[in-house]
Amino acid sequence: MVLTIEEPHLQPLAGLHVRDIVWLAAVIRKVKPMATLVVPLDAKEWFQRFCKQMGIISFEDEPSPSPSHQVILTICPDKEASKLRRISRDLRSLFDEAIKSPIISPREKRIRREFRKTMTVFEGAMFGYPECCVEFHAKESPSSRARVYEEFLESGMDQSIPIEFWAVAHAPCSSICQETRRLGREYLHTVAELSESLRNHVVSRLLLPRFYQTGGGRFIDLQPLDYEQHQGEVAISKEQFERDAQSRLPEPMEIVLCEVPRPFVLVDGPEEPPYKTLFPNPEMIGTMWLAYTPGLGAYMVNAKTGQLALYIASTQWIPKVGEEWRSKANFRIYRSR
Ligand SMILES: [Zn+2]
Repeated sequence: MVLTIEEPHLQPLAGLHVRDIVWLAAVIRKVKPMATLVVPLDAKEWFQRFCKQMGIISFEDEPSPSPSHQVILTICPDKEASKLRRISRDLRSLFDEAIKSPIISPREKRIRREFRKTMTVFEGAMFGYPECCVEFHAKESPSSRARVYEEFLESGMDQSIPIEFWAVAHAPCSSICQETRRLGREYLHTVAELSESLRNHVVSRLLLPRFYQTGGGRFIDLQPLDYEQHQGEVAISKEQFERDAQSRLPEPMEIVLCEVPRPFVLVDGPEEPPYKTLFPNPEMIGTMWLAYTPGLGAYMVNAKTGQLALYIASTQWIPKVGEEWRSKANFRIYRSR
């Protein structure tokens, strides 16, 4: 059960994703040097006032993925830190512009790789990530997170992941990274320092099972619902959904009726029917039917309206994004303790 925030002046925080609340507290208490948060548009003004009261600065420094729902804000303690962030962002975009030419020599290829690594290390330090995890991420490319979830699966820990792993912002270097756990504990402690009821709210949300799509940290929290109990409220029956899902996904397939609160980052954009691949997207909030074939794909519709929320299959998706994103850890539900 998700617990509510008792203090009236902190209640607007409930509109944020729970991980954003954790990072906000960690930056306020100076345990984390910088964070990038996704703030719903209707909470933006309140949020910026709140940051000011708490003695930190917030600024918009990258285009939001879906301007109609939310804004991406970076928070940090002072102007010096924000200057650093702006420099790194400018460097990245200059670099992205410079590498548009597709024909390159092996030497240039190496220089580009080294530059990317250096930027990753620099940004990792700027956001206060553990060195072990930054190094691993720089070496393994952005899909490094999937390797850690594979470890969780292999060790049988996928249904009892330490809660600290959900509190941190970075991709951990391993499923037993002690630095990640230490940092997660510290972050959660800063939430309790702000308010005990805020901490209870945060922990109750972090303990929700989460459906995980890919190595880029794409997952959504969900509260499984008992079908017998909620049968009368849904327009799509279990039998109907099962039939629909079977025609789209291979076996062995799992099915769950669930309530999905606001996901981590909402993205919307052009899709290619019959697929709807953007994840998470605004259609995902509410009572949902979710079907997934571990490692291979997912199909999700709104149980009350029948609207498609997600349809993605590795066969169609991997050729587009590259083999490094293929992982048996994709398209599964993980739980914490
Ligand atoms: Zn680590």
